[in-house]
Amino acid sequence: LFLNPEIKQRVQVYLPVPKIDLAKCRYCGRCSEACAFHALAVLPQVSGKQGKGLLFPELCHGCGTCRYVCPQGAITETNREIGIVEIGASKDLQFLQGILNVGEVMAPSIIREVKKYINSTRTIVIDAPPGTSCPVVASVQGSDYCVLVTEPTPFGLHDLKLAVAMLRKINIRFGVVINRAGLGDDRTEHYCQREGIEVLLKIPFDAQIAKAYSQGKMIVAENQSYQENLVSLYLRIKEIVNENI
Ligand code: SF4
Ligand code: SF4
Repeated sequence: LFLNPEIKQRVQVYLPVPKIDLAKCRYCGRCSEACAFHALAVLPQVSGKQGKGLLFPELCHGCGTCRYVCPQGAITETNREIGIVEIGASKDLQFLQGILNVGEVMAPSIIREVKKYINSTRTIVIDAPPGTSCPVVASVQGSDYCVLVTEPTPFGLHDLKLAVAMLRKINIRFGVVINRAGLGDDRTEHYCQREGIEVLLKIPFDAQIAKAYSQGKMIVAENQSYQENLVSLYLRIKEIVNENI
């Protein structure tokens, strides 16, 4: 919304979903047993009636396991459109975004597709969703550094701890930005101290920020000191990444 990019290209994103050839299927059920997402059910032949292979496409992750395990070679794949990738620019910034079709839930597939268009010769900023779900992991995987933006509240601290555990597990360096600093208590800062986590920046709980945002303006364009703080944040991250701190 704030970058207001000009979109120059739209590319459809598809997920490969299984298609069972009932003429070859022996209703052994191996495909549905192997599916970790319960996206496939096989109903055997009963009293001479034709059996069925039922796919629940919204649950299918397109992993290909069912096709791999089928001993009859009865499964082929067909493409299902789940959304688009938009490619464009905002001034001298390159811009990419993924949009899921209404009702679709396979955000990680779109995120992985968006990342294929990344120009790795440039500095890349990926705006990830909050939390620690699959879309978050798909967003941060492969990054040099992750900025965890939190709030100094019990709820914020709870989510921060989960995000820290996730990043430590997948081995990605990170630091913390405390947004709306002054709103809650100092437990978040104490936690970061105890865990040896760098607090990169504290953004105050300031009505001027909310006011600018409500008018569709970025605070960095409105207030010189915020601009300086965010440039310092960028330079600090660059230093950490380049010097492998
Ligand atoms: S492709 Fe993967 S997720 Fe989809 S039905 Fe087959 S095993 Fe399940
Ligand atoms: S594994 Fe193959 S043969 Fe067995 S039920 Fe599935 S599609 Fe049919």
